[in-house]
Amino acid sequence: MTEEVRVRFAPSPTGNLHIGGAHTALFNWLWARHKGGKFVLRIEDSDRERSTKEYEENIYSGLEWLGLHWDEGPQVGGPYGPYRQSERLDIYHSYADKLLNEGLAYREGEAVIFRVMPGEVISFDDIVYGHIEVKSETLKDIVLIKSDGTPTYNYAVVIDDFTMAITHVIRGEDHIANTPKQILLYKALGIKLPEFAHLPMILGKDKKKLSKRHGATSVLEYKEMGFLPEALFNFLALLGWSPGDNREIFSVEEAIKWFDVKDVNKRASVFDMDKLRHINQEHIKRMDPERRLEAVKPFWEALGLPLEKHSPEYLAKVLEIMDGRGQTLKELAEYTDYFLTFEPVKERVDLEYTENVREVLRPFCNDMIKLSQWDTKTLEEFAREWSANRKVPLKKIAMPLRILLTGTKVSPGIFEVIELLGREETQKRLAHWGMLD
Ligand code: GLU
Repeated sequence: MTEEVRVRFAPSPTGNLHIGGAHTALFNWLWARHKGGKFVLRIEDSDRERSTKEYEENIYSGLEWLGLHWDEGPQVGGPYGPYRQSERLDIYHSYADKLLNEGLAYREGEAVIFRVMPGEVISFDDIVYGHIEVKSETLKDIVLIKSDGTPTYNYAVVIDDFTMAITHVIRGEDHIANTPKQILLYKALGIKLPEFAHLPMILGKDKKKLSKRHGATSVLEYKEMGFLPEALFNFLALLGWSPGDNREIFSVEEAIKWFDVKDVNKRASVFDMDKLRHINQEHIKRMDPERRLEAVKPFWEALGLPLEKHSPEYLAKVLEIMDGRGQTLKELAEYTDYFLTFEPVKERVDLEYTENVREVLRPFCNDMIKLSQWDTKTLEEFAREWSANRKVPLKKIAMPLRILLTGTKVSPGIFEVIELLGREETQKRLAHWGMLD
């Protein structure tokens, strides 16, 4: 029987879940799900000063929003817990005692330090970066336990990964330099080494390491900006991996099916916001209409629009008529505000403009409002005939109508908009601008 794949995501709760952390978590999660293994969440809170409960909560919420549910961790428990480093001090001390007894480590005050022997070549085969070799002369002795009794990262990570039966250590490439030190500790303890796979760095468009300067980096900020979790998931999966065949848009299930950690590319990848927006738009288009409606509602609410005045059927039609426009849920909400209330339209239209178009538009509106049928086809045919008869170009009617009814120059077909607004609302708006007798 092959060994069960066990991977872990081990964030330090010293900041919000950011894009880099989510990327690491996602690749671990994909590998666990692809292999039917376990995804472990370990909170590395050895740095008690900088770790906070709020950051820990933020990490949980971010992972949950992205759908990266963990099988074992601080909240859910599991056979190899506890999963918070601050609750594992006894374990770290017992292994340190072993190294002390064997003369492999020494004390300096309260601290415990591992002695690095010269003349050794430490090597490993990284799944992504290939063969890596380091001479032990280049390494200093390794602090295991600090004088305050807390373990260092390089030590705790080894004890944790071993005692949690982790088979694959998948993490950011900034940890490549730490790996030889950790390997020395595995060897000294006589315990089995996991496989290592380091993930490529994520850069901003300026080719510098991704940071706050490049815009939002916290995962939950993307939620607030109107990104879908499956879109951010799709986008993050493409940073260092691709399913082949130039496929750019895929579902979580497809990624699980196709993902293989061996296919991860070591080239640094660039965080391209335009690409994320494009992927988000594609996922919004593919969404089930009911779920899309529920997803847009909070953004309409945030704009202060009166949702309660409209039926769910009407709101669903509003989104349907948008037909793929809008790259984020927030844009979709903004682009459709005029369907929910006339107020923002009033603010956007310049009074002088209404004066300028009145001469042409007023007679048209007076005739249109009397139509016996109120559907796109009837409205459009009527407008075509009217403009032909009066020798007025259709766009001289359509554009002002659009501006007066929606307060914008871009909208779905204006006659579709008019059908959906309904005769009564259209009449109210046109009367407000003095376009009806
Ligand atoms: N707490 C470490 C970090 O956030 C974990 C590194 C690792 O996965 O070994 O960078």
